[in-house]
This record gives sequence, C-alpha cells and structure tokens, in this order.
Amino acid sequence: MARIEEFLKKREEQGLLRSLNPSNSREDGKINIKGKCYIDFCSNDYLGLSSHPELKKAFKEAAEKYGISASASRLLSGDTQIHQKLEEKTAIFKGKESALIFNSGYQANVGIISSLYGKGDVIFSDKLNHASIIDGVLLSGAKSFRFLHNNLNHLESLLKKERNKFNNSLIITETVFSMDGDVSPLKGLISLKEKYNCQIMVDEAHATGVFGKNGSGMVEELGVTEKIDLIMGTFSKALGGFGAYLACKREVKDFLINTCRSFIYSTALPVPVIAANLAALDLIKKEPFRRKTLLENAKYLHTELSGKGFKIRGSSQIIPLIIGDAQETLNISQQLQTRGYWVLPIRQPTVPTGQARLRFSLSFCHSKKMLKEFIDDIAKVEIHK
Ligand code: PMP
Repeated sequence: MARIEEFLKKREEQGLLRSLNPSNSREDGKINIKGKCYIDFCSNDYLGLSSHPELKKAFKEAAEKYGISASASRLLSGDTQIHQKLEEKTAIFKGKESALIFNSGYQANVGIISSLYGKGDVIFSDKLNHASIIDGVLLSGAKSFRFLHNNLNHLESLLKKERNKFNNSLIITETVFSMDGDVSPLKGLISLKEKYNCQIMVDEAHATGVFGKNGSGMVEELGVTEKIDLIMGTFSKALGGFGAYLACKREVKDFLINTCRSFIYSTALPVPVIAANLAALDLIKKEPFRRKTLLENAKYLHTELSGKGFKIRGSSQIIPLIIGDAQETLNISQQLQTRGYWVLPIRQPTVPTGQARLRFSLSFCHSKKMLKEFIDDIAKVEIHK
C-alpha cells in the first residue's frame, strides 16, 4: 500500500524508523542482545522483582494448579478466587474500598476513562499524560482540554472558563511522569478539583512500589488517598508482574464490571500472572530496602550527572537527559551502546519535537559500582551540551 511505503520511507529519512531488538536473556539489571551483554537502563523493573524467586514460585505453582490461559472473560468462567484475592489485597494496599484488575495499563486507562465519562462531560488532562490516557479521553467522547505540564495556573484558567459548561468533570494526571520522571503537584490539583467540583484520577504506573511508606505510591507518600477518586496503577513495572488495577469506591467497580468494554470483552489475565502479582505485593511489604536503595541510587545519579553539567530532569527513579535534536540523541545512544549500556533514544512522537532525550530507568539491580562506571563512561561520550 502506498501509504505504508511512504510512511516507512519518510520515517527512515528522518532517522525515526523504529525496530524491535529481541533479547536472548535478561537478569539482574542486565540484558543480552545479539550476544552482547548491556546494563539495561530501559526496563521498568524498578525493584528487580520480575526475576524474584518468590514470583517465579508463585507463578509455577499456579500454572500447575490452573494451567496457563484463564480461557474466558472474567464475566464468563475466567474469574477465580485468586483474581478476587488480588483485588482485595490491592484495595488494602492502595487504601481504597475496592479494586478492579485490568489486563494491562493501556486497557485500564482506555476502558476506565471511556466508561466513566462521555458526551456532555469535560476532561482536563496534563499535556504529558501517557498515550493510554490520551486514547481513553478521545474514546470517551467527552470534551477535553490539555493543560500545560504540571501548570496549576493554566489548569485553573481552563477550569474557570470551561467547567460550568459541562456535566461531570475530570482532572487526570500521572503521579510520576514516565518520560520526564517528575512528580505532579497533587495537592494543588486536589484544591482545584474541590474548588471547581471535579473528580480526579491519577495514574500511578511509575510510582507504585517505589514511593510511600508502604510502597503504595505517590498518593500515599503525600497522604492524599482520601481525596483521590480514582487511583490507577500497573503490576508490570516495580511489581515485576503484569496487568493493572483501579482502586476506587465499590459502586464505581460495579459500574465498570457492567460497562467497561476493555474489561468485559477480553480474556482474564492468566492465574499464574495473578499469583505472581500477589507475591509481589507481599514482597513490597517484606523488602522495603529495595525501594530505599533504588531512590538512593537515583539521587546519586541525579547529583553526579547534574554536577557534570548534564541537562537532567525529574525527581524519581526515571532520569531523562534532554538532548533536543533527534539525530544527536540517536548518535549518543549508539555511543553508549558501544560502551555496554542499553539506552534508547526517546524521540517524537513519544515526546515533543526538539525534546528528544535519553531516559535512564534505574533498577534496584543496578549496583553503586555499575552507576559509578556509567558516570565515568558517559563523561567520555561526545555530547554537545
Ligand atoms: N500508564 C503509564 C503512565 C505508562 O507509562 C504505561 C506503560 N508504559 C501505561 C500506563 C500502560 O501500562 P501497560 O504497560 O501495563 O499497558
């Protein structure tokens, strides 16, 4: 098809054509691709739980007992006691009345937003929100406004002008942003939500397991659980498993079970995956040293790179180094790959044009020694700062 050929040709010319890089193996913060071992700075396995023996054991035992596929949607015969138990434990973990599991974070955001909001409603969404949030908003049919990233003044000016023209209103944000690694001004958002009679939904994909006294997320860290209506997050990042959840009121859960198309019309997650997610929740409680070390390492890398004059953003385990030009970013990532670091360029359309970057996602598995060597190595790479 001409459209496909043209697209591929154009992306190639722009140096923006993406391709897959299958790995042979992955463990302990490292990845083996085409026979070469790299330190992996691209994974979201923040706490190193994805290869934890307790997750593997839970997975294997559940596979023996239940097999692999759930073989049906949860509304048919795909629901199990283990799914119910994960929902109960997730609700307690997030401090909410109930929780509902989704098959992925993408399906959660698309399904939740489009079920709960529709024509006649309005959604105010942070400009840097994840693609799954953007798609959920589009699918909902609600009128939407994107406020400048983390900018409460801009949000308030939109609310002042637009809020009263609509029925239900939602403010939506990530708590730790996936591409910038920074944190949303939750308390300010809550004040605006209250002042303008809105609901608020947060995506804790990158905060769950990392922040908060009990590792529940940024909502816990800031002590605002009661004030957030809808808390979404994933099991696929710090928790080392797969799938996602919404923590919310019981009636919202019941409504979604009856209306949410990405929940209803999809086979339930395999029981071994659910069992591994349960094991991960236990480990978050039992092994708080993982998140403590991760955040110490993140602080160390931030301080060292900023001290060397690199344009670093963020205040979490996600550390973006802003380069700007897409080709230059690709070039630097290739130099780092040659030196043994798996770091990929993040370019448009994932981030705005002119804001291409490298993003270092840290893991508990990265030792201080690895990070020290990395700091020495990146100083040797040719970068036009
Ligand atoms: N929300 C955010 C903020 C994300 O970064 C991601 C995944 N990168 C998702 C949702 C989607 O989660 P999943 O990978 O489980 O589909």
